[in-house]
Amino acid sequence: MAIHEFDLVITGAGPAGMTAALYGARALLSTVVLERGEPGGELLNTEYLENFISYPKVLGRDLAAKFAEHARQAGAEIREFINVEYVAKREDGFFETVCDNGDIYVSPSVIVTAGGTPVKLGIPGELEYAGRGVSYCAVCDANFFKQQHIAVVGGGDAAVEESGYLSNYGSKVTLIHRRNEFRASRILQQRLFENPKINVILDTVAEEVLGENGLMTGLRLRNVETGETSVLDATGLFVFVGFKPNTGIIRGHLEHDKMGYVITDSMTMMVPSVPGMFVAGDMRAQLTRQVTTAAGDGTTAAIAAEKYVKGFMEAKREQRSAQTSEFRAIAESHADTTGLAR
Ligand code: NDP
Repeated sequence: MAIHEFDLVITGAGPAGMTAALYGARALLSTVVLERGEPGGELLNTEYLENFISYPKVLGRDLAAKFAEHARQAGAEIREFINVEYVAKREDGFFETVCDNGDIYVSPSVIVTAGGTPVKLGIPGELEYAGRGVSYCAVCDANFFKQQHIAVVGGGDAAVEESGYLSNYGSKVTLIHRRNEFRASRILQQRLFENPKINVILDTVAEEVLGENGLMTGLRLRNVETGETSVLDATGLFVFVGFKPNTGIIRGHLEHDKMGYVITDSMTMMVPSVPGMFVAGDMRAQLTRQVTTAAGDGTTAAIAAEKYVKGFMEAKREQRSAQTSEFRAIAESHADTTGLAR
């Protein structure tokens, strides 16, 4: 177990965390990013990005490597394969970021950018066949489903975009959505409907993952309008029905929206009930979750953290000098009453 002291401790090396690290280091704060895997966050689960301004098409992995290199060049430390257990504020105002290897990082300010975990459908067979047909990451697992019939559930950007990606691997892809319109962006929808390998089933939910001998063999579906059930002969199921923010690592009261995303001060990204703690990126309640918005969040949070750290350290100095004066006054009055020479 070791104690590490920094001005700024950032949990999570996704786009928000690495941008915050860049700005923190450039503000001359001693800055460390703690990442449970490799730097990149959701970028590592994305094959190509086409909406990061100035890069018409870039591999998620390549962009992640550039982010990390830039943050390191600026002077930030990125420590990989460090699992943060919790972040808590102490009575003296400093934060402790406690890791499962026993190490504790102490800092006047923290930025939590721990992202989210894929939401599960919660249907029979889903957990049983996870890794045996059921997946939550196309880039990670598409290769296992070459020339197979792949089912995808969801209607947002992730489901629609990843259906296109999966169609490069599977013999066909069936996208199942519970409503009759998608919330995905128009350009992604346009590509979806133009893709001859993707079949779309609307107003339908997945009810059960079926399997034999430990492998998925099909998916039971139910049309929500007619109540009719059917079995899709897919051997793979990719679930993209949103993310649940990883707020469990934060100790203390957090205000959140009905989906569990943390509500932050809109000017600073600070958690109102925990001064000095900032939340940026996918954990934060906001309209959308893009790499560009995560980077913007990281920027704001780091600039606000810099101001907070300056104010905090100044207050600590004043507190120390007030204490010193108080001690001196007590010592002097003690010397006066006991007649001791000064
Ligand atoms: P979203 O929250 O946008 O979409 C989730 C989808 O899953 C919705 O269509 C929702 O249906 C459906 N859904 C939710 N729960 C269930 C359930 N139990 N059963 C069936 N369907 C369900 O999540 P995404 O992960 O797609 O995207 C998250 C954020 O990331 C968004 O802001 C998105 O814009 C962004 N993103 C951007 C990308 C890009 O720009 N290239 C790529 C990927 C993500 P309903 O519509 O009926 O609520």
